[in-house]
Amino acid sequence: MGKPTGFIDYERQTATERPPLERIGDWKEFVQKLPKEELQTQGSRCMDCGIPFCHTGKLIAGMASGCPINNLIPEWNDLVYRGLWREALDRLHKTNNFPEFTGRVCPAPCEGSCTVGLNGSPVTIKSIEKSIVDKGFDEGWITPQPPAVRTGKKVAVIGSGPSGLAAAAQLNKAGHTVTVFERADRIGGLLMYGIPNMKLDKSIVQRRVDLLAEEGVTFRTGIEVGVNYDAKQLRSDFDAIVLCGGATKARDLPIEGREFEGIHPAMEFLRRNTKSLLDSNHEDGAHISAAGKDVIVIGGGDTGTDCVGTSIRHGCRSVVQFEIMAKPPLERTASNPWPEWPKVYKLDYGQEEAAALYGDDPREYLISTKKFVGDENGKLKELHTVRIEWQKDAQGRFSPVEVPGSEKVYPAQLVLLAMGFMGPENPLLEQLGVERDERSNAKAEYGKYATNVDGVFAAGDMRRGQSLVVWAINEGREAARECDRYLMGHTNLP
Ligand SMILES: Cc1cc2nc3c(=O)[nH]c(=O)nc-3n(C[C@H](O)[C@H](O)[C@H](O)COP(=O)(O)OP(=O)(O)OC[C@H]3O[C@@H](n4cnc5c(N)ncnc54)[C@H](O)[C@@H]3O)c2cc1C
Ligand code: SF4
Repeated sequence: MGKPTGFIDYERQTATERPPLERIGDWKEFVQKLPKEELQTQGSRCMDCGIPFCHTGKLIAGMASGCPINNLIPEWNDLVYRGLWREALDRLHKTNNFPEFTGRVCPAPCEGSCTVGLNGSPVTIKSIEKSIVDKGFDEGWITPQPPAVRTGKKVAVIGSGPSGLAAAAQLNKAGHTVTVFERADRIGGLLMYGIPNMKLDKSIVQRRVDLLAEEGVTFRTGIEVGVNYDAKQLRSDFDAIVLCGGATKARDLPIEGREFEGIHPAMEFLRRNTKSLLDSNHEDGAHISAAGKDVIVIGGGDTGTDCVGTSIRHGCRSVVQFEIMAKPPLERTASNPWPEWPKVYKLDYGQEEAAALYGDDPREYLISTKKFVGDENGKLKELHTVRIEWQKDAQGRFSPVEVPGSEKVYPAQLVLLAMGFMGPENPLLEQLGVERDERSNAKAEYGKYATNVDGVFAAGDMRRGQSLVVWAINEGREAARECDRYLMGHTNLP
């Protein structure tokens, strides 16, 4: 630890963001760089607490506490404080194949469990992580590192999201010949076609994909294994398979009026938006436009927030985001102590932009949609809602109860359904004979990743359900380790 009193001497400073009313005019990233000197100061706030909860990566009460890939945070905080950026980069890459992704999109459970945060503001870990890797690329320190020796073993990775990319990177490092199959036309999974460009610029994703390709990983796009590449053929073509197909089967809202034109799953809206943006800067008109429309986003989570930010950039007339749960408290409650993930109210980027544009946080809490109403041409025109309260039933479980007289009608020409996901969405698991768990995900034990089918492993959202990029990287890395052990009888992968 470079500066024993850093956490007393200096206040927390996070990276600045472009002002909301400026950034909604484009699709560029909105988080700005902190100056080098400021980052060194922030690094010095790490108190080297002895038991760094920030890198434990445990689930407490179902939520991540600490970094799920066990990033060596106190070590690189100190190296940054001392100006040893290249060494910091080496320490960071030891545990994280893609810090440029997590440094941009991770919700930073590390900061929720930082010891300085126990009675002060946590160290600005995520900003430091991003700065280390961005500097690594700027300085040309990050170059392809192909393996010196090949094993002659062939591995197929299905799906090119963060879990598939992490598995491919690690298996390639171990000398195996890796082919990544992706049904979309671009590599990256939800890094490419889920998370919008303003949070994670797609050139950042492509830069890492290009590096992996230069290291020897083969990428094949436009192939949906189980549809236009037979799963049995795959078994005979490869020595092992790692399934990283994600879990993007959307939860629908099958209520009265669902058939009206103008109601879309959030993922369809976000995917088509990014594809059209990348293909033609939206000139091909292939996206679902929110321009001039009253938009309702049903779902208060991160996917919903991305729909809010995207609709605003299209130039929507208004946007409201529905959340069925109550508004979270401003500060931790006694039942949500440190180092648990803090379940507190936050104004995320999309809501901040809506507040700047329309004057208020767009979220409506404790609200449920009763029906959609359309016009004579079959087009959506409004949405009927009711307020709810969460009450305990006879079994002690909370369930929503409608509040009489609280009905309301919202004008809407575009509704985006962002109510979560229901598991993997394709015939691949059936064709391979992979068992599912009770939530319909591929059944494989955490830490082992082996499915019931010999030589077939599963990782990321396809195994754990819709989660976070950082968990996907964790699972991809560990599944690669288990796959390597299966192929070679032993493994040196972490
Ligand atoms: C809109 C949205 C925003 C999000 N924002 C964040 C965020 O800000 N921060 C964060 O940490 N997490 C975020 N998440 C969650 C995060 O993106 C996922 O947890 C993560 O991408 C999961 O990685 P994965 O590799 O397991 O799967 P995915 O990223 O879903 O990738 C799976 C890939 O497999 C491909 N595939 C599936 N089946 C086949 C097949 N049969 N053949 C070939 N290819 C196939 C799919 O096309 C897809 O490209 C977000 C999720 C969504 C939906
Ligand atoms: S990956 Fe996420 S949890 Fe881990 S150090 Fe980075 S921001 Fe924190």
